[in-house]
Amino acid sequence: MKIGMAHGAGGEVMTDLISETILKNITKKSVNGGIGLDALDDGATIPLGDSEIVITTDGHTINPLFFPGGNIGRISAAGTINDVSVMGAKPLAITNSMIIKEGFNIDDLDKIIKSMNETCEEVDVGIITGDTKVMEQDKLDGLVIVTSGIGIVEKGKAIKDSSLEIGDKIIVSGSVGDHGMSLMAFREGFEFETDLKSDVAPVWGIVSKSLDVGGVTAMKDPTRGGLANAINEMAKKSGVGVLLQDDLIPVKEEVKTISDMLGIDPYDVANEGKVLMGVKSDLADEVLKAIKKDRYGYDSEIIGEVIEGSMVLVETPVGGTRILEAPIADPVPRVC
Ligand code: MG
Repeated sequence: MKIGMAHGAGGEVMTDLISETILKNITKKSVNGGIGLDALDDGATIPLGDSEIVITTDGHTINPLFFPGGNIGRISAAGTINDVSVMGAKPLAITNSMIIKEGFNIDDLDKIIKSMNETCEEVDVGIITGDTKVMEQDKLDGLVIVTSGIGIVEKGKAIKDSSLEIGDKIIVSGSVGDHGMSLMAFREGFEFETDLKSDVAPVWGIVSKSLDVGGVTAMKDPTRGGLANAINEMAKKSGVGVLLQDDLIPVKEEVKTISDMLGIDPYDVANEGKVLMGVKSDLADEVLKAIKKDRYGYDSEIIGEVIEGSMVLVETPVGGTRILEAPIADPVPRVC
């Protein structure tokens, strides 16, 4: 069998590849009893003294390199900062490893690095080590960036994506589908008909504000495969069901329009500046209020709750209920 695009698209096909070919061949998958590879969480942890180091890594193959609302530099920084953040850890630094195609425009690279730097500056994150490689014209499509991120959290305080509890409220930190749909619209040439932009942004502000309030039980950033993939993963790993309210899930009008035109569900496509979290019901309103004060969290909403069971259900305003399944693969490839 050979690798297809679906193997990298964040759905079930990718999950199977990871468990059957990658995890099976690696023996030491965690260190000092921390959260390791088997957890398939947003990052891993290494307990050291009173703290836990949180570490994550991401490869970025986005097409196109420049898109409405950002570029590969911003997404490389934000994506990695966000995976550290949703582990409940303060992001400290990232690394930057670039594989650049021979003939790549240096002015474009300058813009990309400036953008990566600005994104890190927003949340006081350093870019502290890196690597630069060049590949022949015919071997690579533009530029691939691999970033690792490191952060720190008090020992035992890391937030997993597998610890939803029955009765928790589910909060999403803003409108869903913006990144995937804006990229799709841009690729299809609709960009003159819409001013929709990617939501790509660092979410540490949102996460830290919610942790300050307390009651956060589980977190994940709904990137590839969108809200549908992230909430299903969280529910499955936690051994619970989730009931979402369709009319409470924020979706921008432009996203709805593009999604109707393309026949793609906005719940299935990537977000790059959003957090999905479970919060104890008695603190949910307060967490929501805190997040709404963040520059990237103004349209956050409580969208449902954790229930007994094993499925993610969506209730429509007219009273019907449907099962929300994880997409087989993100319908929009190469989104990050
Ligand atoms: Mg993640």
